[in-house]
Amino acid sequence: MAQNKTNFIKFLGTAGARYVVARQLRSSAGTWMNIKDDNILIDPGPGTLVKCFSSRPKLDPSQLKAIILTHRHIDHSTDMNVMIEAMTDSGHSKDRIVIAPEETITDEPVIFSHVRPYLARLELMKAGMEFKITQNILLSTPVSHYHTAETYGLKFKTPHGVISFIIDTAYFDGLLDAYSNSDVLILNVVRFENKTDREKGILHLTLADAEKIIQHVKPKFAILTHFGVTMIRAKPWEVAKKMSDAIGVTVIAATDGMTFDLSQLQ
Ligand SMILES: [Zn+2]
Repeated sequence: MAQNKTNFIKFLGTAGARYVVARQLRSSAGTWMNIKDDNILIDPGPGTLVKCFSSRPKLDPSQLKAIILTHRHIDHSTDMNVMIEAMTDSGHSKDRIVIAPEETITDEPVIFSHVRPYLARLELMKAGMEFKITQNILLSTPVSHYHTAETYGLKFKTPHGVISFIIDTAYFDGLLDAYSNSDVLILNVVRFENKTDREKGILHLTLADAEKIIQHVKPKFAILTHFGVTMIRAKPWEVAKKMSDAIGVTVIAATDGMTFDLSQLQ
């Protein structure tokens, strides 16, 4: 059987927004990262566990060190509990961790109380915090995102450089500095049109917002993902190519199952 190499980001799913998730126009599974053999999973949306095992080569959840949940929305959190059970072997592996906003364990918890004792640590995110996940991975949550749930983006310091995820948010200028010095910048770009519709509570980045952020941050690679239907209709690979040509940064449109090789950063 083919073995996974080390040092990669694998996009198990690239769906954003209800329409795309509900119809599974793209998979809504999470993002798997391997840094020097340490595995972490980000935002296990619907279908994550199934995708881990249907991937070729398959990804074994019991090899995860940590699961990071950025906010409680259903397209990010549905498989959270089953992934905690799989990661910890229902509590037999006692050194695993989860990092998530407080809102995910209060009111109507998306992290059930029965799986919490399985974890070595359940750490709560706030803006401006740092979490040492392993010897090789330091996570910071630089800023609170402007979204309809308590949401934080992620900045990982790794031996390959800084890998950042700008998770769901409406645009605000604070994003520019918060994600500066990123070598790889991954952006959830739900909307193609340049309309934010804040009054309607639609708080997501548009393509124009993403371009502005990428131009400011100037990462070595920018990766667009978490597409709504307007982005999918616009053909993300063409959109990414056009943006690369316009601003001189390598912009990649993620596809379901795409593996980004981190060794190309060296
Ligand atoms: Zn969301």
